[in-house]
Amino acid sequence: MDAAACIGCGACVAACPNASAMLFTGAKVSHLNSLPQGKAEKERRSVLMVQAMDEAGFGGCTNIGACESVCPKSIKLDVIAQLNRDYHTSSLKKILQF
Ligand code: SF4
Repeated sequence: MDAAACIGCGACVAACPNASAMLFTGAKVSHLNSLPQGKAEKERRSVLMVQAMDEAGFGGCTNIGACESVCPKSIKLDVIAQLNRDYHTSSLKKILQF
C-alpha cells in the first residue's frame, strides 16, 4: 500500500528526461488494483490508464530512476514494473477474447 502515498505532485514527471508519467500512473494503478473493491475494474483500469498517458503525450520509461529519487513520498520503481505486468496481462486477456 506504499503506492497509496502518492500525492500527485508531478515531481516525478518533471524530473524525468523522457517526461514519463509512469511512476505516478504506476502508483495510482497499483494502489487501486490492490484494493479488494478495485479488483472488478483492474484489467480495464490498467489498459485505459496507460492509453490515457500515451494519448496525453507523456514519454516512455527507460528505467533511469530520476522519478524515484525526487519523489517526496518515496514511491519505488516497483510500481512501474507492476503497472507493466498488469497492462500486458490485461491486454493479452483482451486479445484472447476475440
Ligand atoms: S513524485 Fe511521487 S508523490 Fe509526486 S506524483 Fe510522482 S509518484 Fe506521486
